[in-house]
Amino acid sequence: MHSGLLDILRCPYCGGRLELVTSLFHRTEGETVRDGILGCECCVFPVVDGIPVLHLHAAAVAARQHIEARAPELALRAMAGVADDEQAEQFEAAVASDDSTYKDIVAALGPTFEGGYFLYRFSDPTFVVADAVVRAVAGTVLRTGGRALDVCGGSGHLTRALVPLSSPAPVLADLFFPKIWLARRFTAPGAVPVCCDGNAPLPFARGSFDYAMCSDAFMFIWMKRLFVSELFRAVAGSERGTVLINHTHNQLVWSPSHGQSLTPSGYRNLFEAARPRVFGESQLFADVVAGKTLDLSRAEDAAALEKEAALTLVASPVDAVFDRHALEPSPGSGGEWRINPLFDIDDQGSRLHGVLQFPSGDYEYEYGACREYLPEEVFIDKATLHALQAGGPIEPMAELIRRRVVVELPKKYY
Ligand SMILES: [Zn+2]
Repeated sequence: MHSGLLDILRCPYCGGRLELVTSLFHRTEGETVRDGILGCECCVFPVVDGIPVLHLHAAAVAARQHIEARAPELALRAMAGVADDEQAEQFEAAVASDDSTYKDIVAALGPTFEGGYFLYRFSDPTFVVADAVVRAVAGTVLRTGGRALDVCGGSGHLTRALVPLSSPAPVLADLFFPKIWLARRFTAPGAVPVCCDGNAPLPFARGSFDYAMCSDAFMFIWMKRLFVSELFRAVAGSERGTVLINHTHNQLVWSPSHGQSLTPSGYRNLFEAARPRVFGESQLFADVVAGKTLDLSRAEDAAALEKEAALTLVASPVDAVFDRHALEPSPGSGGEWRINPLFDIDDQGSRLHGVLQFPSGDYEYEYGACREYLPEEVFIDKATLHALQAGGPIEPMAELIRRRVVVELPKKYY
């Protein structure tokens, strides 16, 4: 971490400023802190492999003790959550190799690591809606500058969309250290990772941000009331201060990974006087499938919202957010254009023939709505694809990009 991050970091428990404890073991390079201990008036926290760990769960306490004992490699093991020495060696070998992919390191983290369907993340229906909403809302709020915060951002798949929009760089906060570590190396290398607990006060100074979001995770937060008030504290004082909660499940409609969801009015109440706009995800999904505009000017009635499986809530003083936004194919975030791994590809000379294949029945059950944009069968002209991959224009491939047949993936993803 850059030492300038200390300007916006605060202890989650006493709210005090944090400083590097120079009397204890630390490794710094210029303004960058690689390992060390941060202290406030009430507590001490470790910096592990450049990532501040601002909570007191067991792994964080163990990591802090390892740093104090001048063993930063053991601190990284503790935070990575590897099961035993053999697993630790696999993880460390994968970390040390420049050739390792995201997939290699997920495999080295072992079966307890929630890797799941990450290969297909960039085309799953939840992601494509959230990505469109984030690019529309953050793109509008941060048009003239400002900083974004992604809380519970996991491995940074959506934070990636914030990197080109946020200045200074966006902050990616999550409890699960290996995920933000992977995000820094692969998925969202331009973002600043901070390890913290969404069920505690957030470790940031009041008003450090202009845009704060939580996507596909809010139903798993127990302290929802505290969490929403913390998102508002994070953007307090910004005249564009915007809070977005994406894809949170509706208690009134069953879903496969439900969490502790609330009803639409229950969610609305959490925002108190801020009066969010509430959108049903099926309407936003239909907009994305149609591919023309994302309509955030719509006002859905309460009865319609009660039938929606997932909801998006936006509170913003920026009127232009609640408008129709043109859906342009993403220009990419510095990764590489590849054929969606959901297609089984057969090389036919000048063109490729792809057939849609789901990895499992479970995947198809949860994400089968992707058939609305992914074709069953597709032909791809190799010369046009290679031109795009070599940095050529998006336009000749725009339709295949819109349908998520061709996707922009982080470098060395798999
Ligand atoms: Zn403190």
